[in-house]
Amino acid sequence: MAQRYALMIAPADAADTRDDYSGTFTPIDVTAPALSVGELSTQRGDGVFESIGVVDGHPNEVEAHVQRLAHSARLCDLPAPNLEQWRQAVTAAAAHAPLGEGVVKLILSRGVEHGPAPTAWATASSAPDYTAVRRDGVRVVTLDRGYDLGAGERAPWLLLGAKTLSYAVNMAALREARRRGADDAVFVTRDGYVLEAPTASLIIRCGDEFLTTAPSAGILHGTTQLAVFEHLESQGLATRYAKLSATDLATADAAWLVSSIRQAVAITAVDGAPLASDPALTAELNAFLLSPR
Ligand code: PLP
Repeated sequence: MAQRYALMIAPADAADTRDDYSGTFTPIDVTAPALSVGELSTQRGDGVFESIGVVDGHPNEVEAHVQRLAHSARLCDLPAPNLEQWRQAVTAAAAHAPLGEGVVKLILSRGVEHGPAPTAWATASSAPDYTAVRRDGVRVVTLDRGYDLGAGERAPWLLLGAKTLSYAVNMAALREARRRGADDAVFVTRDGYVLEAPTASLIIRCGDEFLTTAPSAGILHGTTQLAVFEHLESQGLATRYAKLSATDLATADAAWLVSSIRQAVAITAVDGAPLASDPALTAELNAFLLSPR
């Protein structure tokens, strides 16, 4: 996912109401150093981000992503982002995404220690080719998240609902999944509830109903899950947020991991046991997710 384009953003105050923020964007050389060594994003992972899927230059679900950036910033006590400035930054970066599938990434860091302002930037790159995994699905293992379902609400300082730059744990979980012979992981609470994958939301189908874990469980509220639920509802199908046990996943009629860049992939096995899948619905969901939204 080589970065093709990057721009630094001079963060505007949330109350600023100008129409045009292009003067606050500075394109930078993606091959040259750009951050100060005092950056708290690199020293502590202290910041928040968004990854937005771009298809043929069109960034999808921009509003949901900038709103979640603001939500993450609030949870982390970062200055409120100016939403219009970030919308315009997405447009500016997406104009440099390749034809086909790309990614625009937004980063808002606490900045340099004792510095005057947050550091913010946006990048555009091409996306990996996920054609095969969308067709073949993923085998997952369930991995202990180490806390119970109430932790998110009981301990907000754990920042469980924020998309922070600290993804080392998520990446470690993916490595563990691969060590166990699987492709991906689903986190499970100490009290036996499924949460999400390290980089995706979980949706399961039980009978005629599509279910996902409620965001109050201390997970990221996925923009793709939201879009899939709206899409299913528009077809008259039932959707619901719920507390889902590991048994609910293992006995589901079908299950998917959904996220902004890889889109919808079927779960074909859980902890080595095969799971039913619905290739026609998976293909239909991906056709929807890859259309301009
Ligand atoms: N949960 C986690 C932990 C994630 O990292 C992601 C995306 O990266 C998601 C869920 C899915 O979110 P979205 O659909 O907005 O990409």
